[in-house]
Amino acid sequence: MAIRQIRIMGDDILNKECKPVKEMTPRLAELVEDMFDTMYEANGVGLAAPQVGILKQIITIDVDDGNQYVLVNPEILEESGTQSGQEACLSVPGKSGVVTRPNHVKIRAYDEYMEPYELEADELLARAICHECEHLHGHLYVERVEGELMDVEEED
Ligand code: ZN
Repeated sequence: MAIRQIRIMGDDILNKECKPVKEMTPRLAELVEDMFDTMYEANGVGLAAPQVGILKQIITIDVDDGNQYVLVNPEILEESGTQSGQEACLSVPGKSGVVTRPNHVKIRAYDEYMEPYELEADELLARAICHECEHLHGHLYVERVEGELMDVEEED
């Protein structure tokens, strides 16, 4: 288990386009494990590889629905509905803001064994997928916040 350093807004790497993964190497498999460790340590529900300084299209998500999602080279196929709610990001510590997202998405991605799969997601999972996919293309949720970014109190 290894915790990686989370890059913070202002770090150029967060604004770069990530490359698709061609094959799952031992190094990338270790990255996926470390991303889960890092995400749990920081109490996050999602993490994208650029947030730990790696410009690859890899995302880890755990919204407490009993699954650990690994999204390699994800592609959003369909979006529908809307949801508006508070969003935060491990790369923007201590802040949150209201963002409107699709309430439902259908995606295609590869898992940690490079097996392709499709997934339909609603509500929080759909929000997390959209948020993390934007990281892979150099975007942060703060670009979409409606109104002000707010300060959130740190939880112990
Ligand atoms: Zn984020």
